[in-house]
Amino acid sequence: MGDRVRVHPEKCTMCLYCQLVCSLKNYGFFSPPKAMIKISRLGNEINIEFSSKCKGCLECIKWCFYGALKPKKGFA
Ligand code: SF4
Ligand code: SF4
Repeated sequence: MGDRVRVHPEKCTMCLYCQLVCSLKNYGFFSPPKAMIKISRLGNEINIEFSSKCKGCLECIKWCFYGALKPKKGFA
């Protein structure tokens, strides 16, 4: 369901709000490693990935204040 989200890694600040809110929404507590979205850095490149467990709820988008996550057309 991560395919509902359009990603702009070049805008990502690695604040990890998305991982925090995903774990809170889906498990009821903050645990970034449990999130269905994962932000990582390899050299200068930031990578944004979704696990197969992503439910497509789009909560992560609401809490990304830097424009790195946007809904794909039809999922706004
Ligand atoms: S909330 Fe947005 S800016 Fe922050 S880590 Fe997630 S994708 Fe990057
Ligand atoms: S769409 Fe929902 S389930 Fe998927 S990564 Fe974002 S907050 Fe988590």
